[in-house]
Formats: sequence, structure tokens, C-alpha cells
Amino acid sequence: MSGGPRLQAPRGTFDVLPGGSPARLSFFNLCQDRLGGAGLGYAETPIFEDTELFARGVGEATDIVQKEMFTLEDRAGRSLTLRPEGTAGVCRAYVEHGMHKLPQPVRLWYWGPFFRHEAPQAGRYRQFTQIGAEALGSDDPAVDAELILLLAELLEEAGVRQLRLRLSSLGTAAARRDYADELRAHLRAREEELSSEVRSRIEANPLRAFDAAHAGTRAVLADAPKLLDRLAPEDAEHFAEVRALLDDAGLGYEVDPSLVRGLDYYTRTVFEFTSDALGAQSGVGGGGRYDGLVEQLGGPPTPAVGWAAGVERILLAAAGEPQRGASPTVFVAWENSRRAAFAVARRLRESGVTVQMEQAGRSLKGQLKHADRLRARFAVVAGEDDLELRDLRTGQARAIASVEEILEVVEAS
Ligand code: AMP
Repeated sequence: MSGGPRLQAPRGTFDVLPGGSPARLSFFNLCQDRLGGAGLGYAETPIFEDTELFARGVGEATDIVQKEMFTLEDRAGRSLTLRPEGTAGVCRAYVEHGMHKLPQPVRLWYWGPFFRHEAPQAGRYRQFTQIGAEALGSDDPAVDAELILLLAELLEEAGVRQLRLRLSSLGTAAARRDYADELRAHLRAREEELSSEVRSRIEANPLRAFDAAHAGTRAVLADAPKLLDRLAPEDAEHFAEVRALLDDAGLGYEVDPSLVRGLDYYTRTVFEFTSDALGAQSGVGGGGRYDGLVEQLGGPPTPAVGWAAGVERILLAAAGEPQRGASPTVFVAWENSRRAAFAVARRLRESGVTVQMEQAGRSLKGQLKHADRLRARFAVVAGEDDLELRDLRTGQARAIASVEEILEVVEAS
């Protein structure tokens, strides 16, 4: 076998290894517990979809579609894209499986890998993990408020530090179009003060100017008309109701009229959670209402709302004590009796005990040291016809007659 240069994971990707995975798994369990407990069903959609889904669903003029998609051609020449976000796929599945015929709203949550061709930096990767929730089929402001509260609860329970919530409303697509014209006129009038990037997007997507960090652009925007002041009465009322529900729940937030978010499909409520414990990439999760998206993807008119949050950023912003993997309760040691040890380990496991057995050819002394290092509670030394049980806290050892007896001692401990 010949070697070759050492291979590395692609730029902007990372390995999740046992040293780092316990916090991640316990966050997954928390999500399952809280979102499942709130009645959301778990769903998975494919990691790649037809490119057209994102072109239509995310918006041709967005950064994601223009610059950040990993797109490939399959052998039949079809264009496929590694999903950059989860909402479009969920909407596609909702339409494809006729979920509009189910009792509404259909409430789902998902967890999985997403892909964006961005410049990697701390908290920004090319493959990252999102946890997301969507509720399709209701325009009730209580759905918006409920989903926001669920995300707030998850982030708080995960221990995300210095959390802030910004909230706004974008109104309907029609109100936004009128507003975009008004904003275009304002930007054109002071075009020379804008960054070249914003200038080049005045026509296609003027609202994205609000995301710019450029000082001149920000000065122009400070005097710009606000979409929040242009909402139709029913949209303003919807937003007021969402806020009232959040107020009643005691959740703090800041109304931020400059919040537009990077995706084109949002209508009405938009929100974003940030953590000041993170650096430049401070967004931990966000979302909003997308009342037109399902229809845009060929489904019936379906109001909907959802969010997605970055698992890696949540864990970074929550970083506390590094957690250890779960210690086994029993370590099964052996010298000449692998099969006996294997059988004991299997029977203990069948009874629900967490068990590890020796698998590295250590001496008996080395095995007991290893059991200590694993912080096992007990060690069983398995011989052909005899068992010895050691309490690793007290150091006491005694002969024991059967696996049942081990179970009794473990249960009583
Ligand atoms: P978005 O769909 O852009 O609203 O992203 C939702 C959340 O996903 C963000 O708040 C981040 O926490 C996370 N996220 C987005 N892009 C990346 C990335 N390139 N690397 C890591 N996390 C990301």
C-alpha cells in the first residue's frame, strides 16, 4: 500500500469527535424534548434538491442564490444543489405530500447539515448544522409568538449567554414592493454616499442595504423611510398582537425597523436572536413569516412561519464546562476469558446498565486503572467460571455468583 499526502477535511468544514459531541447530543435531546413536547413533529428532507427549488424559493436576487450555493450536475445533466437552508425543502414536502389536507397548522421541526459557500471564519462554516421549526397553514399571530418563545426557551436552556432578540414586520409582499420603490428613490438620490455593493443592488434588492456595515450607507439609511411605518392596517395589527403575546410571556425584545434578513420570502413578522458572547458572526437564530412561499412553489395559498438556528453557534455561545462523555456504570475486565466477559457485558446491557468491556489487551492492573479513568462505578472481573465485583469508589472486591447479583448491587448503588 502506498501512502500519499495527508488528507484534510475540506475548507470550512469540521469533524465532530467524541470529545466535543456530548454537548451537541444533549442539545439535540433538549430540542427533541421541548419541540416534541410542544407538539411539533420531527421531519427530514433531502440534503440535495433541484436547484430550481432554491432559485424560486429563496430568491434569485439573494446572496445565497447568487454566490453561496454548492451546485452540481447529476449524470443526466440535472442541476442539483446542496441545501443552503431548510424552509424551501419543507414547503416542497408540504405540497408534494398534500399536507394542506391535514389539520392546520402543520408544525414540524428538523435538524441537519446545510451548505453555503461563504468565507470561513469563527462561527461561519461551509457545512453547518441547523435546528429549525416551521408551522404551515395558519396566519394566527399566536403561531408566530409561540415559535419565537420556543426558540427563546431552547437558547436559554442551552445556556446561550448575552442573548438579544430583535423583532420587526415586513408587511405583505405588495406593501414591500411599494416601499422598495420609495427606498430606491431615496437611495438613488444619495447614490454617491453608498458602498459600491449596495449601489449595484439598488434595482434588484434595495432592502438589503439595511444589512450593510458601510458607514456612508448607514448614514443614508438613518434618514430613509421605514417599512414599519408603511404597513397596511391589518399587518400593523398582526404585529401588535405578536408583540402583545410576547409581552404577556415576559420575553424581552427590541423592535428594529432595519431588520430585513437575507432571504426574499419573508412577509410580516421577522426576528433574529443574537449573542454578544460571539464575535462578528453573532446571529444564533432567526426567522419569520413567509405567507407567499408555499404558493410560489406551486402549492395552495398557505400562510406559514418558521425559524432556523445554527447549532455550532449555539454551542459556541453556550460554551461552559467542557462536558465529558457518559461514564459507564460497569467496566468488564478479563484475562483469558473474552467470551465470558463479552456475555456478561451483553447481559448487563440488556438490563439497561451502561457497560464497557476491555478491548485493548491491557494487563488486569492496567484494565482496572482504565476503569478508574473512565470513572466507572464498578468493575467486574470475568473469569471462565467466576465473577468478581469491585466497587471502584471503596476499592472493595468480592466474589459474586451471577449476573443477577451484579444487577442487584448496581441497582442498590
Ligand atoms: P439564516 O438561514 O441565514 O437565517 O441562518 C440561520 C442561522 O444559521 C444563523 O443565525 C446562524 O446561527 C446559522 N448559520 C447560517 N449560516 C451559517 C454558516 N455559514 N456557518 C454557521 N452557522 C450558520
